[in-house]
Amino acid sequence: MRFFKKIGEWVRRYDDAHNFTCDICGREVFAGERVCAACRKSLPWNGGAICPLCGRRVKEEGVCLECKQQPLSVERARSSLLYEGEASRLILRFKRGEKYLYRAVTELCLSTIKEQFPEAEGLVPVPMTARAKRKRGYNQSLLLCEEFSRKLSLPVVDAAEKRHETKPQKTLGRRERQENLAGCFHVADRAAVKGKALLIVDDTLTTGATVSELSEALKRAGAARVFAFTATSVEQKEPFGKR
Ligand SMILES: [Zn+2]
Ligand SMILES: [Zn+2]
Repeated sequence: MRFFKKIGEWVRRYDDAHNFTCDICGREVFAGERVCAACRKSLPWNGGAICPLCGRRVKEEGVCLECKQQPLSVERARSSLLYEGEASRLILRFKRGEKYLYRAVTELCLSTIKEQFPEAEGLVPVPMTARAKRKRGYNQSLLLCEEFSRKLSLPVVDAAEKRHETKPQKTLGRRERQENLAGCFHVADRAAVKGKALLIVDDTLTTGATVSELSEALKRAGAARVFAFTATSVEQKEPFGKR
């Protein structure tokens, strides 16, 4: 299995260097482009009415129900796309082995991050435990940070670590998610975050429990302000999961 995975990776690398095809539909694109114009247009962009705090799409203008009950620990969160259709498929592929997709994702999201977070002084990846990283082979959040860092000339502040493994969040309600994550992040290098305005970068915002927990750890270590950017977010329909 591993062997075939390796071959797949070589083929993709060769492909990368010799062909320019859209990472979503496979049609030809201009040199250096990752996603074709047609795919770009048909993606589920996050726009219209969004919650001014968590940035998720809402039915009516204004702060969403969940933020009213308990706002995230970050000052402001924003995302480029809704986690549905082609966008969620792209994120799932990116997280399930298709590492090279970090370029497509950053290309799609660059303008949002530029426009929404002019005050950011550093990009913070969501850390994984060493074991989880070995299993996947890479930290997708760190890959996004590194590529944004090259494009925005902002440093990557990889100062936090995840101290213990947590249960998968998928099946948990909002409160359970918070409890599951409590105390899992630790910032060892306090000097790297002290007094800074930091932007957490991740692939998806569901309830925001992960970015909130990481934000708390960064603030405890002395960060002045913390924001969050995620490539995609789940539309806010009704209070999330069980309470
Ligand atoms: Zn395409
Ligand atoms: Zn909200």
